[in-house]
Amino acid sequence: MAQRHFQRGRELAIDLGTANTLVFVRGEGIAVFEPSVVAIDEVTGRVHAVGEDARRMIGRTPASIRAIRPLRHGVIADFDVMLRYFIRRAGGGGGLSYSHVVLCVPSGTTDVERNAVEEATLAAGARRVSLIEEPMAAAIGAGLPVGEAQGTMVVDIGGGTTEVAVLALGGIVVWESIRVGGYELDDALVRHVDANARLLIGPETAEAAKIACGAAWPLPETLETQVAGRDRITGLLRRSTIDSNEVRAAIAQPIETIVDAVKRTLESTPPELAADVGSHGITLAGGGALLRGLDRLLSSETGLPVIVADSPLECVVLGAGSSLEESELLGRSSKKRPPFGRRRRRGRR
Ligand code: ADP
Ligand code: MG
Repeated sequence: MAQRHFQRGRELAIDLGTANTLVFVRGEGIAVFEPSVVAIDEVTGRVHAVGEDARRMIGRTPASIRAIRPLRHGVIADFDVMLRYFIRRAGGGGGLSYSHVVLCVPSGTTDVERNAVEEATLAAGARRVSLIEEPMAAAIGAGLPVGEAQGTMVVDIGGGTTEVAVLALGGIVVWESIRVGGYELDDALVRHVDANARLLIGPETAEAAKIACGAAWPLPETLETQVAGRDRITGLLRRSTIDSNEVRAAIAQPIETIVDAVKRTLESTPPELAADVGSHGITLAGGGALLRGLDRLLSSETGLPVIVADSPLECVVLGAGSSLEESELLGRSSKKRPPFGRRRRRGRR
Protein backbone atom coordinates (compact mmCIF):
# COMPACT_ATOMS: atom_id res chain seq x y z
CA MET A 1 0.00 0.00 0.00
CA ALA A 2 2.61 2.53 1.11
CA GLN A 3 4.72 1.48 -1.83
CA ARG A 4 2.25 2.97 -4.27
CA HIS A 5 2.94 6.43 -3.06
CA PHE A 6 6.46 6.21 -4.37
CA GLN A 7 5.26 5.95 -7.96
CA ARG A 8 4.81 9.13 -9.88
CA GLY A 9 1.05 9.33 -9.83
CA ARG A 10 -1.17 10.35 -12.66
CA GLU A 11 -2.74 13.74 -12.86
CA LEU A 12 -6.47 13.95 -13.42
CA ALA A 13 -9.07 16.58 -14.16
CA ILE A 14 -12.64 15.64 -13.24
CA ASP A 15 -15.92 17.23 -14.32
CA LEU A 16 -18.63 15.61 -12.21
CA GLY A 17 -21.61 17.16 -13.94
CA THR A 18 -25.29 16.78 -13.12
CA ALA A 19 -25.70 14.72 -16.30
CA ASN A 20 -22.26 13.47 -17.33
CA THR A 21 -18.93 12.82 -15.68
CA LEU A 22 -15.72 13.26 -17.64
CA VAL A 23 -12.21 12.46 -16.51
CA PHE A 24 -9.16 13.79 -18.30
CA VAL A 25 -5.79 12.14 -17.72
CA ARG A 26 -2.80 14.38 -18.26
CA GLY A 27 -0.79 13.21 -21.24
CA GLU A 28 -3.58 10.90 -22.41
CA GLY A 29 -6.78 12.87 -22.90
CA ILE A 30 -10.37 12.09 -21.96
CA ALA A 31 -10.42 8.64 -20.35
CA VAL A 32 -13.97 8.57 -18.96
CA PHE A 33 -17.24 9.98 -20.34
CA GLU A 34 -20.21 8.42 -18.55
CA PRO A 35 -23.58 9.47 -17.17
CA SER A 36 -23.55 10.67 -13.54
CA VAL A 37 -25.92 7.96 -12.36
CA VAL A 38 -25.83 5.66 -9.35
CA ALA A 39 -28.03 2.60 -8.82
CA ILE A 40 -28.58 1.86 -5.16
CA ASP A 41 -30.31 -0.98 -3.37
CA GLU A 42 -32.60 0.91 -1.04
CA VAL A 43 -32.92 -1.96 1.40
CA THR A 44 -29.24 -2.73 1.94
CA GLY A 45 -27.84 0.63 0.86
CA ARG A 46 -25.44 -1.21 -1.42
CA VAL A 47 -24.29 0.48 -4.61
CA HIS A 48 -25.35 -1.70 -7.52
CA ALA A 49 -23.87 0.14 -10.44
CA VAL A 50 -22.43 3.53 -11.37
CA GLY A 51 -22.19 5.36 -14.68
CA GLU A 52 -23.35 3.83 -17.96
CA ASP A 53 -24.42 0.54 -16.33
CA ALA A 54 -26.56 2.45 -13.84
CA ARG A 55 -28.09 4.65 -16.54
CA ARG A 56 -29.45 1.60 -18.36
CA MET A 57 -31.36 0.80 -15.17
CA ILE A 58 -33.22 4.12 -14.98
CA GLY A 59 -36.93 3.41 -15.02
CA ARG A 60 -36.26 -0.33 -15.31
CA THR A 61 -35.20 -1.34 -11.79
CA PRO A 62 -36.93 -3.82 -9.50
CA ALA A 63 -38.70 -2.30 -6.53
CA SER A 64 -35.76 -2.22 -4.16
CA ILE A 65 -33.18 -0.69 -6.50
CA ARG A 66 -33.22 2.93 -7.50
CA ALA A 67 -31.17 4.43 -10.30
CA ILE A 68 -30.73 8.13 -9.65
CA ARG A 69 -28.81 11.14 -10.83
CA PRO A 70 -27.59 12.26 -7.40
CA LEU A 71 -26.25 15.63 -8.49
CA ARG A 72 -29.29 16.70 -10.43
CA HIS A 73 -30.60 19.02 -7.78
CA GLY A 74 -27.22 20.15 -6.65
CA VAL A 75 -27.29 17.87 -3.62
CA ILE A 76 -24.02 16.10 -3.24
CA ALA A 77 -25.45 12.85 -1.95
CA ASP A 78 -23.41 9.88 -3.15
CA PHE A 79 -20.77 12.27 -4.37
CA ASP A 80 -17.89 10.22 -2.97
CA VAL A 81 -19.30 6.97 -4.34
CA MET A 82 -19.23 8.42 -7.84
CA LEU A 83 -15.88 10.11 -7.36
CA ARG A 84 -14.21 6.86 -6.30
CA TYR A 85 -15.79 4.92 -9.13
CA PHE A 86 -14.82 7.39 -11.85
CA ILE A 87 -11.29 7.84 -10.50
CA ARG A 88 -10.86 4.07 -10.54
CA ARG A 89 -12.20 3.93 -14.11
CA ALA A 90 -9.63 6.51 -15.22
CA GLY A 91 -6.84 4.53 -13.58
CA GLY A 92 -7.62 1.44 -15.62
CA GLY A 93 -7.95 -0.57 -12.41
CA GLY A 94 -4.20 -0.68 -11.67
CA GLY A 95 -2.76 0.27 -8.32
CA LEU A 96 -2.07 3.82 -9.36
CA SER A 97 -1.91 6.87 -7.20
CA TYR A 98 -2.91 10.34 -8.20
CA SER A 99 -0.41 13.05 -7.56
CA HIS A 100 -2.80 15.85 -8.47
CA VAL A 101 -6.53 15.98 -9.12
CA VAL A 102 -8.29 19.07 -10.41
CA LEU A 103 -11.99 18.99 -9.69
CA CYS A 104 -14.54 21.30 -11.31
CA VAL A 105 -17.06 22.90 -8.97
CA PRO A 106 -20.05 25.11 -9.77
CA SER A 107 -19.51 28.83 -9.25
CA GLY A 108 -20.84 29.88 -5.90
CA THR A 109 -19.82 26.67 -4.16
CA THR A 110 -19.52 27.58 -0.48
CA ASP A 111 -16.36 27.09 1.58
CA VAL A 112 -18.02 24.27 3.49
CA GLU A 113 -18.91 22.50 0.24
CA ARG A 114 -15.45 23.11 -1.20
CA ASN A 115 -13.94 21.59 1.88
CA ALA A 116 -16.20 18.56 1.66
CA VAL A 117 -15.35 17.84 -1.98
CA GLU A 118 -11.64 18.38 -1.31
CA GLU A 119 -11.72 15.92 1.57
CA ALA A 120 -13.64 13.39 -0.54
CA THR A 121 -11.07 13.70 -3.34
CA LEU A 122 -8.15 13.20 -0.96
CA ALA A 123 -9.92 10.21 0.55
CA ALA A 124 -10.40 8.80 -2.98
CA GLY A 125 -6.65 8.63 -3.49
CA ALA A 126 -5.43 12.08 -4.56
CA ARG A 127 -2.28 13.45 -2.97
CA ARG A 128 -3.14 17.00 -3.94
CA VAL A 129 -6.46 18.45 -4.99
CA SER A 130 -7.28 21.78 -6.62
CA LEU A 131 -10.69 23.16 -7.42
CA ILE A 132 -11.57 25.14 -10.50
CA GLU A 133 -14.85 26.88 -11.06
CA GLU A 134 -16.83 25.43 -13.95
CA PRO A 135 -17.29 28.63 -15.97
CA MET A 136 -13.54 29.25 -15.76
CA ALA A 137 -12.81 25.69 -16.92
CA ALA A 138 -15.40 26.01 -19.69
CA ALA A 139 -13.86 29.27 -20.89
CA ILE A 140 -10.34 27.82 -20.95
CA GLY A 141 -11.63 24.71 -22.71
CA ALA A 142 -13.39 26.87 -25.28
CA GLY A 143 -10.12 28.65 -25.97
CA LEU A 144 -11.22 32.04 -24.61
CA PRO A 145 -8.54 34.49 -23.45
CA VAL A 146 -9.40 34.26 -19.73
CA GLY A 147 -6.08 35.64 -18.53
CA GLU A 148 -6.45 38.94 -20.38
CA ALA A 149 -8.11 42.15 -19.35
CA GLN A 150 -10.75 41.63 -22.00
CA GLY A 151 -14.11 40.43 -20.67
CA THR A 152 -15.61 37.20 -21.99
CA MET A 153 -18.99 35.63 -21.31
CA VAL A 154 -19.66 31.92 -20.98
CA VAL A 155 -23.07 30.27 -20.73
CA ASP A 156 -22.76 26.63 -19.64
CA ILE A 157 -26.04 24.77 -20.01
CA GLY A 158 -25.83 21.41 -18.28
CA GLY A 159 -28.47 18.89 -17.29
CA GLY A 160 -29.60 20.35 -13.99
CA THR A 161 -28.13 23.84 -14.04
CA THR A 162 -27.16 26.74 -16.26
CA GLU A 163 -24.22 28.87 -15.26
CA VAL A 164 -23.68 32.28 -16.76
CA ALA A 165 -20.42 34.08 -16.07
CA VAL A 166 -18.35 37.02 -17.22
CA LEU A 167 -14.62 36.49 -16.80
CA ALA A 168 -11.64 38.79 -16.99
CA LEU A 169 -8.03 38.71 -15.76
CA GLY A 170 -8.26 35.08 -14.76
CA GLY A 171 -11.26 35.53 -12.49
CA ILE A 172 -15.04 35.48 -12.49
CA VAL A 173 -16.42 39.03 -12.34
CA VAL A 174 -20.17 38.40 -12.39
CA TRP A 175 -22.08 35.17 -12.50
CA GLU A 176 -25.49 33.67 -12.06
CA SER A 177 -26.43 30.05 -11.63
CA ILE A 178 -29.95 28.75 -12.09
CA ARG A 179 -31.42 25.32 -11.48
CA VAL A 180 -32.70 25.09 -15.04
CA GLY A 181 -30.93 23.06 -17.70
CA GLY A 182 -31.52 20.26 -20.17
CA TYR A 183 -33.59 18.19 -17.74
CA GLU A 184 -36.17 20.95 -17.41
CA LEU A 185 -36.53 20.91 -21.19
CA ASP A 186 -37.15 17.14 -21.05
CA ASP A 187 -39.72 17.55 -18.26
CA ALA A 188 -41.51 20.27 -20.20
CA LEU A 189 -41.71 17.93 -23.19
CA VAL A 190 -43.12 15.13 -21.01
CA ARG A 191 -45.87 17.50 -19.83
CA HIS A 192 -46.56 18.71 -23.36
CA VAL A 193 -46.97 15.19 -24.79
CA ASP A 194 -49.19 14.27 -21.86
CA ALA A 195 -51.42 17.31 -22.33
CA ASN A 196 -51.58 17.17 -26.13
CA ALA A 197 -51.46 13.50 -27.03
CA ARG A 198 -52.66 12.00 -23.74
CA LEU A 199 -49.49 9.95 -23.81
CA LEU A 200 -47.26 9.40 -20.80
CA ILE A 201 -43.59 9.24 -21.86
CA GLY A 202 -40.53 8.90 -19.66
CA PRO A 203 -37.92 11.65 -19.29
CA GLU A 204 -35.31 9.55 -21.14
CA THR A 205 -37.68 9.26 -24.11
CA ALA A 206 -38.28 13.00 -23.98
CA GLU A 207 -34.55 13.65 -23.93
CA ALA A 208 -34.04 11.45 -26.99
CA ALA A 209 -36.83 13.30 -28.82
CA LYS A 210 -35.33 16.65 -27.84
CA ILE A 211 -31.95 15.61 -29.21
CA ALA A 212 -33.52 14.14 -32.36
CA CYS A 213 -35.69 17.09 -33.32
CA GLY A 214 -35.54 19.79 -30.65
CA ALA A 215 -35.01 23.42 -31.56
CA ALA A 216 -35.14 26.83 -29.95
CA TRP A 217 -35.53 28.68 -33.25
CA PRO A 218 -37.62 27.81 -36.33
CA LEU A 219 -35.73 25.35 -38.52
CA PRO A 220 -35.55 25.65 -42.31
CA GLU A 221 -36.95 22.12 -42.49
CA THR A 222 -39.26 20.58 -39.92
CA LEU A 223 -37.81 17.48 -38.23
CA GLU A 224 -39.88 14.63 -36.85
CA THR A 225 -39.39 11.76 -34.45
CA GLN A 226 -41.42 9.03 -32.80
CA VAL A 227 -42.08 8.76 -29.09
CA ALA A 228 -43.47 5.72 -27.31
CA GLY A 229 -45.30 5.77 -24.01
CA ARG A 230 -48.41 4.70 -22.17
CA ASP A 231 -51.78 5.90 -23.39
CA ARG A 232 -53.47 7.88 -20.63
CA ILE A 233 -56.91 6.49 -21.47
CA THR A 234 -56.33 2.87 -22.49
CA GLY A 235 -53.19 2.29 -20.43
CA LEU A 236 -51.64 0.55 -23.43
CA LEU A 237 -48.37 1.23 -25.19
CA ARG A 238 -48.77 3.72 -28.02
CA ARG A 239 -46.53 5.63 -30.38
CA SER A 240 -46.91 9.17 -31.51
CA THR A 241 -45.02 11.44 -33.89
CA ILE A 242 -43.66 14.73 -32.66
CA ASP A 243 -42.02 17.46 -34.71
CA SER A 244 -39.53 20.24 -34.12
CA ASN A 245 -42.19 22.97 -33.98
CA GLU A 246 -44.02 21.12 -31.24
CA VAL A 247 -40.83 20.58 -29.25
CA ARG A 248 -39.96 24.25 -29.66
CA ALA A 249 -43.33 25.29 -28.25
CA ALA A 250 -43.08 22.74 -25.44
CA ILE A 251 -39.67 23.89 -24.22
CA ALA A 252 -40.23 27.63 -24.76
CA GLN A 253 -40.72 28.43 -21.10
CA PRO A 254 -37.56 26.90 -19.60
CA ILE A 255 -35.64 28.30 -22.58
CA GLU A 256 -36.95 31.75 -21.70
CA THR A 257 -35.77 31.27 -18.11
CA ILE A 258 -32.25 30.59 -19.43
CA VAL A 259 -32.37 33.61 -21.76
CA ASP A 260 -33.51 35.80 -18.86
CA ALA A 261 -30.55 34.66 -16.73
CA VAL A 262 -28.20 35.70 -19.54
CA LYS A 263 -29.88 39.10 -19.83
CA ARG A 264 -29.72 39.70 -16.07
CA THR A 265 -26.02 38.84 -16.00
CA LEU A 266 -25.37 41.22 -18.89
CA GLU A 267 -27.23 43.96 -17.03
CA SER A 268 -25.05 43.54 -13.95
CA THR A 269 -21.80 43.45 -15.94
CA PRO A 270 -19.59 46.52 -15.52
CA PRO A 271 -19.81 48.70 -18.69
CA GLU A 272 -16.23 48.17 -19.91
CA LEU A 273 -16.59 44.42 -19.73
CA ALA A 274 -20.07 44.55 -21.25
CA ALA A 275 -18.55 46.40 -24.19
CA ASP A 276 -16.02 43.56 -24.61
CA VAL A 277 -18.77 40.97 -24.52
CA GLY A 278 -20.61 43.11 -27.06
CA SER A 279 -17.76 42.94 -29.52
CA HIS A 280 -16.54 39.38 -28.88
CA GLY A 281 -19.85 37.74 -28.17
CA ILE A 282 -21.19 35.07 -25.84
CA THR A 283 -19.79 31.51 -25.87
CA LEU A 284 -22.16 28.61 -25.25
CA ALA A 285 -20.92 25.43 -23.55
CA GLY A 286 -22.47 22.32 -21.97
CA GLY A 287 -24.74 19.80 -23.67
CA GLY A 288 -27.58 22.33 -23.84
CA ALA A 289 -25.49 24.39 -26.27
CA LEU A 290 -26.17 21.66 -28.83
CA LEU A 291 -29.88 22.47 -28.98
CA ARG A 292 -30.58 23.59 -32.54
CA GLY A 293 -31.01 27.32 -32.95
CA LEU A 294 -30.29 28.23 -29.33
CA ASP A 295 -27.45 30.44 -30.55
CA ARG A 296 -29.82 32.21 -32.97
CA LEU A 297 -32.40 32.78 -30.27
CA LEU A 298 -29.89 34.11 -27.72
CA SER A 299 -28.37 36.34 -30.33
CA SER A 300 -31.73 37.77 -31.30
CA GLU A 301 -32.73 38.30 -27.65
CA THR A 302 -29.48 39.99 -26.60
CA GLY A 303 -28.40 41.61 -29.86
CA LEU A 304 -24.94 40.07 -29.38
CA PRO A 305 -22.97 37.54 -31.39
CA VAL A 306 -23.27 34.01 -29.94
CA ILE A 307 -20.76 31.23 -30.60
CA VAL A 308 -21.11 27.56 -29.68
CA ALA A 309 -17.88 26.13 -28.21
CA ASP A 310 -16.16 23.50 -30.34
CA SER A 311 -16.86 20.54 -28.04
CA PRO A 312 -19.53 21.84 -25.68
CA LEU A 313 -19.85 18.58 -23.71
CA GLU A 314 -16.11 18.33 -23.22
CA CYS A 315 -14.84 21.85 -22.86
CA VAL A 316 -15.16 21.98 -19.04
CA VAL A 317 -12.96 18.93 -18.50
CA LEU A 318 -10.58 19.99 -21.27
CA GLY A 319 -10.21 23.40 -19.65
CA ALA A 320 -9.62 21.84 -16.24
CA GLY A 321 -7.15 19.47 -17.88
CA SER A 322 -5.14 22.25 -19.43
CA SER A 323 -5.12 24.04 -16.09
CA LEU A 324 -3.16 21.06 -14.71
CA GLU A 325 -0.33 22.50 -16.73
CA GLU A 326 -0.89 26.08 -15.69
CA SER A 327 -1.46 25.86 -11.97
CA GLU A 328 -1.49 29.63 -11.57
CA LEU A 329 -4.91 29.71 -13.22
CA LEU A 330 -6.33 27.47 -10.54
CA GLY A 331 -8.40 28.73 -7.70
CA ARG A 332 -6.87 29.76 -4.46
CA SER A 333 -7.47 26.45 -2.82
CA SER A 334 -5.08 23.63 -3.41
CA LYS A 335 -5.20 21.13 -0.63
CA LYS A 336 -2.67 18.47 0.24
CA ARG A 337 -3.06 15.24 2.12
CA PRO A 338 -2.65 15.58 5.86
CA PRO A 339 0.79 14.89 7.40
CA PHE A 340 0.46 11.12 7.73
CA GLY A 341 0.13 10.89 3.95
CA ARG A 342 3.30 12.87 3.41
CA ARG A 343 5.19 10.86 6.00
CA ARG A 344 4.30 7.68 4.25
CA ARG A 345 5.44 9.09 0.96
CA ARG A 346 8.87 9.79 2.34
CA GLY A 347 8.99 6.29 3.76
CA ARG A 348 9.18 7.41 7.39
CA ARG A 349 6.97 6.18 10.17
P1 ADP B 1 -23.70 18.48 -16.94
O1 ADP B 1 -22.46 19.32 -17.06
O2 ADP B 1 -24.71 19.06 -16.02
O3 ADP B 1 -23.37 17.05 -16.62
P2 ADP B 1 -23.78 18.32 -19.81
O4 ADP B 1 -22.96 19.49 -20.19
O5 ADP B 1 -23.13 16.98 -19.94
O6 ADP B 1 -24.40 18.49 -18.36
O7 ADP B 1 -25.10 18.36 -20.69
C1 ADP B 1 -26.12 17.44 -20.51
C2 ADP B 1 -27.40 18.02 -21.06
O8 ADP B 1 -27.23 18.33 -22.45
C3 ADP B 1 -28.55 17.01 -20.98
O9 ADP B 1 -29.69 17.66 -20.46
C4 ADP B 1 -28.77 16.62 -22.43
O10 ADP B 1 -30.13 16.33 -22.72
C5 ADP B 1 -28.34 17.86 -23.18
N1 ADP B 1 -27.93 17.58 -24.54
C6 ADP B 1 -26.94 16.74 -24.95
N2 ADP B 1 -26.89 16.70 -26.30
C7 ADP B 1 -27.86 17.53 -26.75
C8 ADP B 1 -28.33 17.91 -28.05
N3 ADP B 1 -27.77 17.45 -29.16
N4 ADP B 1 -29.37 18.78 -28.12
C9 ADP B 1 -29.95 19.25 -27.00
N5 ADP B 1 -29.55 18.95 -25.76
C10 ADP B 1 -28.54 18.09 -25.63
MG1 MG C 1 -21.24 20.77 -16.84
